[in-house]
Amino acid sequence: MDLKALLDSIARDVLAAPARGKVADYIPALAKVDAQKFGMAFAPVDGPLVGTGDFQVPFSAQSVMKTFALALVLAKDEDSLWSRVGREPSGTAFNSLVHLEYERGIPRNPFINAGALVVIDRLIGLYGDALDAVRTLVRTESGNPDIDVDMEVARSEAEYGHRNAALAHFMSSFGNLEHPVARVLDPYFRMCALRLSCADLAMAGLFLARGGLRADGSRLLSTSGAKRMNAVLLTCGTYDAAGDFAYRVGLPGKSGVGGGILTILPGRGCLCVWGPALDKSGNSARGVDGLDEFTTRTGWSIF
Ligand code: GLU
Repeated sequence: MDLKALLDSIARDVLAAPARGKVADYIPALAKVDAQKFGMAFAPVDGPLVGTGDFQVPFSAQSVMKTFALALVLAKDEDSLWSRVGREPSGTAFNSLVHLEYERGIPRNPFINAGALVVIDRLIGLYGDALDAVRTLVRTESGNPDIDVDMEVARSEAEYGHRNAALAHFMSSFGNLEHPVARVLDPYFRMCALRLSCADLAMAGLFLARGGLRADGSRLLSTSGAKRMNAVLLTCGTYDAAGDFAYRVGLPGKSGVGGGILTILPGRGCLCVWGPALDKSGNSARGVDGLDEFTTRTGWSIF
């Protein structure tokens, strides 16, 4: 299969369709991004990366980074996190407070904001510097040492982060954070503000397609750890639209409000897309269209 020709053809079709969605504007620094950008990159487990469009243009990773934070926690401790965070779809928005009171400060899953804050809290306990642990992992796996925090976005996140602060304080009141709220929020905001391209992300996520093996052949996750992460990505990785995403795309994936989506084709490769305009669930509208086309034309979904 000529993957480069396939990606080019998908990009043409996606860009020819009427534009849908809206760029995230709840953090002012994100609202400036050009909605017409579109890129897609596929990193096979056994060959060179191919890409189309803006696949080498860095963008704000946002919640896509939650994938790497969770992997680093599970790499050192496969079990204890799950008494503090569930692994069920939330059925509510990524930043919702409603379940937390009923469920006594235990977030539904590690990919909604509340769950990711608990993951960061655990990451601090395991690694000390949580931001550096995530940044080093994505730099090493992607081979791009220049990946770094966009400080304008990080500051904007902190300035407008009242809801994340509320989630953290709420969980703290139930004893579900080991570190002070400010100590957890700071690396969370910075991690979300990491900038990297589809090409970087496709390379960085490959360990999940290799059953937990890193680029240098060492093991980050056990085979079952990688299976479990992919299962949580499938059921919880695309906000409150994980069912629709599984129906259309059929791959484990994690989206972010920067418009990026990381997807895993176990045993085959890692596919990333970026289109800043988001649908009503917060997933990249053109990104989901592109991924849908890819798995439909190749037949490479997990189903
Ligand atoms: N930094 C964003 C927030 O916490 C992440 C949102 C996202 O990409 O889902 O609001």
